[in-house]
Amino acid sequence: MSKDFCQNFEILNAPYLPYECDALNPHITPNTLFFHFEKHHKGYQTNLEKLLSDDDKKLSLKDIILKAQKEKNTAVFNNAAQVWNHNFYWFSMKKDGGGEPEGQLRKWIDRDFGSFIAFKEAFVTGGKTQFGSGWVWLVYNEKSEKLEVVKTGNADTPITDKLYPLITCDVWEHAYYLDFQNRRPDYLDKFMDHLVNWDFASCRLLHI
Ligand code: FE
Repeated sequence: MSKDFCQNFEILNAPYLPYECDALNPHITPNTLFFHFEKHHKGYQTNLEKLLSDDDKKLSLKDIILKAQKEKNTAVFNNAAQVWNHNFYWFSMKKDGGGEPEGQLRKWIDRDFGSFIAFKEAFVTGGKTQFGSGWVWLVYNEKSEKLEVVKTGNADTPITDKLYPLITCDVWEHAYYLDFQNRRPDYLDKFMDHLVNWDFASCRLLHI
C-alpha cells in the first residue's frame, strides 16, 4: 500500500467514502452506511462550510481543526474534527477485514499490549466504556514511542494531542443503532472480527 493511499485522508478536505455503501455488508448494512456517510458525515461538512471564512477555507482540514482549538471556536472545531474523524473511520475498515495484523505492527502490539488478544480486549473495552458519544482509537504516541488505546468524547480527536492514529471505531449511536440497536459491544466485536483494516494501520505505521 502506497504512502499516498494510506495518508490520502490527510489531504481530504471533504467527506470521502473509499468504497460503495454495500461494501461492509452484512456487518454494517448499506442502510447504516448510507445514512452515516450521506447524512451525518456530509452534514458536518455542510455546517462547517457555513462557519468558515473564505481565508479559512484555503487551509487544510487538520489546520482548520488546530486553529479552531487554539481560538476556542467550538462550532468550527466540532464540525471540522467530525469530518476528519469520519474520513479516518472509513479507511479503518475494509471489505473482508478483521483477523490479526502482521509485521512491525504485530510486533509492536505484542510489545506494548502483551499480546494481540490483550490489545483487542483493550480496544473493545475502550469503545464499550466511552460514556455517551465518541471514538476509540489505536494510536502511536510519539512521546512514549508506544502504541496505546485512547478514547475521545464527542468530536474530540487524538491529532490535537500529537498522537498519531492508526485505527478508529466510531461509537456514536448513529454508527450502529440501525443494525445493533443498543448492543454497542456486538458492533465493536464485528468491527474487530470482520472489518478492521490492518493494511491501512500497517501502512500508517510505516510512514510516521
Ligand atoms: Fe459517525
